[in-house]
Amino acid sequence: MNEKRLVVKVGTSTLTHSSGALNLHSMERLVRVLSDLSGEGRQVILVTSGAIAVGTARMGLEQRPDSLGMKQAAAAVGQCRMMHIYDKFFTEYNRTMAQILLTGDDVEEPSRAEHLRRTFSALLDIGVIPVVNENDSVSSAEIETGRHKVLGDNDTLSAIVARLCGADLLVLLSDIDGLYSADPRATPDAKLFRQVSELTPEILQMAGGAGSWQGTGGMATKLSAAKIAMEAGCDMVIANGANPEALYEILEGKKIGTRFTARKKEELL
Ligand code: GLU
Repeated sequence: MNEKRLVVKVGTSTLTHSSGALNLHSMERLVRVLSDLSGEGRQVILVTSGAIAVGTARMGLEQRPDSLGMKQAAAAVGQCRMMHIYDKFFTEYNRTMAQILLTGDDVEEPSRAEHLRRTFSALLDIGVIPVVNENDSVSSAEIETGRHKVLGDNDTLSAIVARLCGADLLVLLSDIDGLYSADPRATPDAKLFRQVSELTPEILQMAGGAGSWQGTGGMATKLSAAKIAMEAGCDMVIANGANPEALYEILEGKKIGTRFTARKKEELL
């Protein structure tokens, strides 16, 4: 089977309504597809955002808190809530999931990284679906994106997980269809790139900064994820999370979103 080991990253905007409440319909569709892919014999890892947004809503706060302490508190509440719902849906589809929360140190320090790799392998070998997020309640790095950056954001985190696990494919499900030549809302004839085989300076320039038009995490973090994945010999696809069923077509090799093609792992040796 092509692309047996798969990492799928889903962003807050796909998982939650603007109120911060979980978008159960969207989550359930995603879980159904992932469960089905696991049933096909694929090894599936889900990297999920949403903890802070869900926690904010759950704690009855009107908006995302400003203070780091409250953000970390919201992450603790929201993570628990999210896992409860994921577990419920995965159980309905007869799958077992596991929670893995990471900080930068866990992937930077070689012996911890090795333990982590073994944990992922052990879970994947028996068909369990690891569900990963940054450990926001102990790590300020990700919440304060851009500063003291080790993992930084879940786009980068998912690429690091893909590299660590030797994944064959990383899919970022976002609120945008892929990499465009310009802001598609401001420039209706902006071109969607179907395939990128090299991160040229021109491509990198199109990314803009975090929080720009390219979506919540920004295209910059997606391109930094692409760099990590491609260097590890793993293709990466950016596709719109509004349609998680697109994962089937992506795995069939259809032209969905933007595919960043890596050189084959054998060529990298
Ligand atoms: N880890 C954060 C959360 O669960 C999200 C970070 C991101 O979207 O990149 O709320």
